[in-house]
Amino acid sequence: STAIFHFERGCAYGTKEMKDLLGSKGSGLAEMALLGLNVPAGFTISAACNERFAARGSTYVQSELWPDVLEAVSSLERTAKRTVFRSGCSLVGRAPLLLSVRSGAAASMPGMMDTVLNLGLSDACVAACVEAGFDERWVYDSYRRLLAMFGDVVEGIPKMDFEVALSQARSANEVRFDSELPAEALKKLCDEYKDIYVKHGKTFEQDPMNQLSKSILAVFSSWNNPRAVEYRDINRLSGLLGTAVNVQQMVFGNFNDNSGSGVCFSRNPADGTDKVYGEFLQKAQGEDVVSGVRTPMMISDLAGTQASAAEELNEVCKELEKDYKDMMDIEWTIEDGNLYILQCRVGKRTGTAAVRIATEMAAEGIITRDEALMQVNAKQIEQVLHPVFVIDETSAEYSGKIVAKGKPASPGAAVGAICFSAKEAKEMKAKGTPVILVREETCADDIGGMFAAEGILTARGGMTSHAAVVARGWGKPCVSGCGDIVFKNDREIRFGSSDKTFRSGNVISINGTTGEVLNASFPVAPSTIETFLPLKTFMQWVDQKRGIEIRANADTPEDADAAIRNGASGIGLVRTEHMFFSTTDRVHAIREFIMAQDETSSTIALEKLEKYHYEDFRGILKAAAGRKVTVRLIDPPLHEFLPSEKQLREGGAQEMSRYIGKSTHDIMEIAENMREHNPMLGLRGCRLGILRPSMSKMQVRAFAQAAIDLTSEGFPVTPSIMVPLVSTVDEFHNQRDLVWGVMKELAKENQQPPIRMEIGAMIETPRCALIAGDLARAGASFFSFGTNDLTQMTYGFSRDDSDAFIKPYIAKGLLRDDPFVTLDPVAVAELMDIAIHRARDIRNDIEVGVCGEHGGDPASLRTIDALDVDYASCSPSRVLVARLAAAQAAC
Ligand code: PEP
Ligand code: MG
Repeated sequence: STAIFHFERGCAYGTKEMKDLLGSKGSGLAEMALLGLNVPAGFTISAACNERFAARGSTYVQSELWPDVLEAVSSLERTAKRTVFRSGCSLVGRAPLLLSVRSGAAASMPGMMDTVLNLGLSDACVAACVEAGFDERWVYDSYRRLLAMFGDVVEGIPKMDFEVALSQARSANEVRFDSELPAEALKKLCDEYKDIYVKHGKTFEQDPMNQLSKSILAVFSSWNNPRAVEYRDINRLSGLLGTAVNVQQMVFGNFNDNSGSGVCFSRNPADGTDKVYGEFLQKAQGEDVVSGVRTPMMISDLAGTQASAAEELNEVCKELEKDYKDMMDIEWTIEDGNLYILQCRVGKRTGTAAVRIATEMAAEGIITRDEALMQVNAKQIEQVLHPVFVIDETSAEYSGKIVAKGKPASPGAAVGAICFSAKEAKEMKAKGTPVILVREETCADDIGGMFAAEGILTARGGMTSHAAVVARGWGKPCVSGCGDIVFKNDREIRFGSSDKTFRSGNVISINGTTGEVLNASFPVAPSTIETFLPLKTFMQWVDQKRGIEIRANADTPEDADAAIRNGASGIGLVRTEHMFFSTTDRVHAIREFIMAQDETSSTIALEKLEKYHYEDFRGILKAAAGRKVTVRLIDPPLHEFLPSEKQLREGGAQEMSRYIGKSTHDIMEIAENMREHNPMLGLRGCRLGILRPSMSKMQVRAFAQAAIDLTSEGFPVTPSIMVPLVSTVDEFHNQRDLVWGVMKELAKENQQPPIRMEIGAMIETPRCALIAGDLARAGASFFSFGTNDLTQMTYGFSRDDSDAFIKPYIAKGLLRDDPFVTLDPVAVAELMDIAIHRARDIRNDIEVGVCGEHGGDPASLRTIDALDVDYASCSPSRVLVARLAAAQAAC
């Protein structure tokens, strides 16, 4: 059946491939059992059962599933050689079989769903254990944990109530940690916990098998609790069956001083160093480690106290890495000196760590180079560019601002206003204020606020605490376990011995790479990537693998420079009209041109624009250092240049009038005459260049002159020009002749032969795609697909107005993706394919590229790679991602 899957050391009815059905935890347990690792025996109730529960409700569990569960428990009793306590039983020297019940879906959702430990204890069982001579501290410690977890997960009693009682017990007994509470105190605590049940109108379920059925129901229900739904939303996890439930024999990290629980990564998840990395808490159960209740000790200290377990753990890590071909995140418990492995999954890691681990594992022969390329995802490669402080971190100005130090849980620099709750963080972020979420420790309920924050700072918890794991997954800076934070109340903190108070709204900086907290608002900037050696190796492999070139879209010399530093092999699109947006003077100059009614005023405006163009083209050509630079002639949807009618009426016309020497009345009138109903299909693209050739001529002049000057100064250049939004061959002819004309003029002026200038066409309309062969025949040297417009015109979806229906379409299942984000692999791709074939039939080696936004989107790059194109061009910040995605498409 697809319901229940047993596992015990050496034998299992599942494998790591069965994640969808068994969940990550269940499939990992089966895999580890098969590998012969010391896994406590148990069984997994599959995620398919969660789906059935969701459809049919609790009767499914109680009637259909239950007989199978009973049988599975009996079988577990035989394996464990222990029995679940039943009243009337006596325990002669043998502990009862206690169970852990844990959720576990196919995708990791750290701390999102529920767990019940020590299940099977009851008043009678506890009494029998004590009578049989078991250590009372252990018995009552386990019982109070069950009471609290079951109360929280199954009965919905606020966790806080139990925590308050626990912390009162600590104060009453004058101890700092739970593990120091004596048996007597724990016994009293159990009674108090039961009173808490009563206070909430509940009684604790005394029958172990009822405890089990209720826990299973609770775990199934937890799949759809709000925080789990929010987590799946944020992380875009969809299409999962639900969560599986893992029922397992308990092993006890809280058994004695020779016991404990830990979490480790087979390599360092922050920087990727090849050394087991993790934390350990003595005399504790697993939940204590992940929740960050006590700040744990480092795994390197384990060898001192538990030498053989430490060594075994190292071997387990190596074995699991070989088996999974990846870096692993492992939970384990030592019970009286014996190591048990409770969970393994592929470890979350920072981008830096991902790149290092992939390259090193390939070098070690654990994985192939292709596997290494597939191991790093787009997000991670972007994270390599994580932000850093602009200020020198060794300077006195920097160190003088350090107010506290915690653990460097997730690298990167972040600045923001302090927020003490997830709610506040979300609200402030929504208002546009960057925030740092400051918490004692985080829990699953904080997820939305953590996501909203620039960075996360916690007072407690280590490198594997909830805050650390989640932040690393997102690549968000995080400092955890910052013991210097003193909470004065829930709206004020101070740091260490300083008496300066920090309130919500005060700005601080955190450095997730070093763990420092700073009383400062330092500017942050993306880090440079040149210095990280493994990235160099990795990107070399990437470039060897990929079949298409990656160029960048850049409108300024700075963008071009950044693009080339990120490895772009050219500038695939310079949107010349964007070059007029950057300063007020430029905006006025272009408006002056648009409004010009006669030759003279038009020429005056163009002279201003030419100066701007010349300087920028020079800068871009220089940054490209000989690589191809493709400048697109102006493509102005006119509405992007003119103020709206309302803006004009409310002072805009007066302001324009001051700059361009026309009366406000004239300005209003000209603007009115030019106003279009459908600007995206109006006087844009080459249409404007054809009707007002002086504009195109000026652009060609500025660009070609910049190329000529740089060449004579000894800088290599490869300039090319493309004509936007072509729909007919004659349009292309018109602009091609214009370019040639200017080139000849310039040759004469400069008294030298014309420089080489390729002229191509953008394919942005369906008609253009169909006539690509004719255009190739007409002398187009290359084609570049403007997939933004091609998508707009293929679907008939306005780029400007489609938000109103695309999101609802996706929600209704009428569209899978936004076609402006993910290139339509069906019709738009077919149009492209037709165009490419027709063009290549005329000239087989004609260069073809893509320069729409899709060029930086990994999913679109798979479609693009499958077409016979030479390059994709994307924004400078996406170049690294696009290079990787292109390589992955070729794997
Ligand atoms: C396109 O349409 O894909 C394109 C690159 O041009 P723009 O986005 O500037 O219209
Ligand atoms: Mg376009």
